[in-house]
Amino acid sequence: MNCYLIEGAELTLLDCGVDWKEGLEALESGLRMVGFRPESIDRLIVTHLHPDHVGMAPRLSERWNCQIVMHERSVDRIPRYNDTAAFAESMRALALRHGVPEAMRPGFVDVATRAPFMPMMRDPDRVVADGDRIPLDDVRWLDVLHTPGHEASHICLRDSLTGILFSGDHVLPRITPVIMVDDEGTDVLGDYLASLQRLVELDVGLTYPAHGGIVEHGARRAEQISLHHDRRLSGMLDVVSLAPRTAWDVLLESYRPNLNSIEQRLALRETVSHLEHLRTRNQVTSFPEHDLWFYRRSSA
Ligand SMILES: [Zn+2]
Repeated sequence: MNCYLIEGAELTLLDCGVDWKEGLEALESGLRMVGFRPESIDRLIVTHLHPDHVGMAPRLSERWNCQIVMHERSVDRIPRYNDTAAFAESMRALALRHGVPEAMRPGFVDVATRAPFMPMMRDPDRVVADGDRIPLDDVRWLDVLHTPGHEASHICLRDSLTGILFSGDHVLPRITPVIMVDDEGTDVLGDYLASLQRLVELDVGLTYPAHGGIVEHGARRAEQISLHHDRRLSGMLDVVSLAPRTAWDVLLESYRPNLNSIEQRLALRETVSHLEHLRTRNQVTSFPEHDLWFYRRSSA
């Protein structure tokens, strides 16, 4: 997990890791190592509402007396982030609806206990929207790009002076961020592909992601990730061409075997996001049968 310290008239920290003692110690000793007192951080910008990015935010804002800055979409999503029981229920319903076999279902409901590293999140002190500028000093700022897909409130930030993009989880080297259907019923993969296209159109270069090393050419990486999803979409379309299949059937044909329960949960949510995107493009239709949802290729 990468956190970035950005110098300016106000000191900015970008993302903060999950809430655990070792992480806090590493972060504070890292800041001291580069010559800053942790308490001198003025604001913490969080790229998106996932525990490895926002987990420590409530603790740090109290400990350092700094502001939390997030995208405006985070505000109505925070209550759901805080509602562990509702999350467990939505995972249970997802597993039932999409054909997860009974023996596997416990893996989908073992999320009922909240992990200690993700304490309740509070509202941000300041919200930003796409196109906003967060000033760093008189001549330099961070441009806010709203890049929904991996998470609906996800933002990337672009340094006006250097053009460097801080990409959060939107663009990562080597791996692709998981794109998960959520309760809002929107076409999350469609959102994600559009957000990737923005980086291509901006011809983003040097990119600093939240995980892994620096990406030399963000726009090119965005194109690669987009192609990966195209391939996965056409593979899934093939799977539902011959006969109606559940999302679980499609998952088994699309991902490697022996996924652990966390991976199964992520893979199912990602499979559904792909199938729902195909449905939005009228390439598949879906229909229920005895509470189970089936997808099949649309007749041309
Ligand atoms: Zn994330």
